[in-house]
Amino acid sequence: MKASAFSYARATSVGDALELLVAHGDKAKVLSGGQSLMPAMNLRLISPELIVDIGELAELRGIAVRGDVLNIGALTRHVDLLNSPDIAAHAPLLTEAIAHVAHPAIRNRGTLGGSLAHADPASELPACMVALNAIIIIRGQAGERRIAAEDFFTGIYETALSAQELLVAVELPVTKKESAHFFFEFARRHGDYAIAGLAAQAIMAGGRLGGLRMAFFAVGDRPVLARAVNKLVNVTITPAALADAATALGEELDPQDDQQAPASMRRHLAKVLMARCASALLGRPELNAGGLV
Ligand SMILES: Cc1cc2nc3c(=O)[nH]c(=O)nc-3n(C[C@H](O)[C@H](O)[C@H](O)COP(=O)(O)OP(=O)(O)OC[C@H]3O[C@@H](n4cnc5c(N)ncnc54)[C@H](O)[C@@H]3O)c2cc1C
Repeated sequence: MKASAFSYARATSVGDALELLVAHGDKAKVLSGGQSLMPAMNLRLISPELIVDIGELAELRGIAVRGDVLNIGALTRHVDLLNSPDIAAHAPLLTEAIAHVAHPAIRNRGTLGGSLAHADPASELPACMVALNAIIIIRGQAGERRIAAEDFFTGIYETALSAQELLVAVELPVTKKESAHFFFEFARRHGDYAIAGLAAQAIMAGGRLGGLRMAFFAVGDRPVLARAVNKLVNVTITPAALADAATALGEELDPQDDQQAPASMRRHLAKVLMARCASALLGRPELNAGGLV
């Protein structure tokens, strides 16, 4: 199938893009890398009347470290995140996660902003943003809005963005020297969307976890910042404490059945991921010895 007829406008500046979006409202769609938008149009899941191509707006592309903040422009492509020494040094969780996003051809075109605005609950990057405590920066004609990543994702393919706004950048705190991260996803093949995944960022404090953000993906309608991890922070983790946290996690998650996996399997995998994460971060293999379910 091919897309319905549509008009095309190449934005010459952020201001120009915003004018077009305001004039056309929800009949217009922003085009970044096109790796999610074009398939959706070709399948006629959506039929916008106007495509606003922001791909030439160099001001929205790039990675910069300013003090203890890492700023990433919305048009920064997946491949640029993968190859960036700044990302590897200051947000290594992202470097690890991005290798699991699709395949090289898609990573060569797809952008960070596109992935976040698309808000697929099985995507890796939205969960990383939640784990890393990112701020999402949005621009509209009235000015700029800054939203914590955990508040930005509001449902399946839904975010706090309105049809008249652009996601322009994200800001991440640079990792501290006592930081550690964990990333793992269960997928049928490398590069497929996950069946269940976990992006986590921790602060190590001696043999304990002094801080921990676990963001699960593909187990709910958006990335889930697990509250159950509070049971693992600033305590000596025993197998019993971990089992208690896993039970709380299972109650907190609300995964859906779909053609890839039943909800019960996703919930089970999330508990397995929690154990693997604690075990890997603390260097204690016995915590991942099973017995959680
Ligand atoms: C075969 C295949 C496999 C894939 N596998 C994975 C995977 O495993 N994991 C994964 O995370 N992704 C996967 N993707 C999606 C891929 O990562 C996309 O690149 C990404 O989701 C969208 O980025 P984009 O720049 O291409 O956005 P586009 O397709 O251009 O846009 C996506 C949506 O976001 C909106 N949008 C884009 N940019 C902005 C902006 N700056 N401000 C406001 N709205 C905006 C668009 O209007 C559209 O609704 C896959 C895609 C394909 C085709």
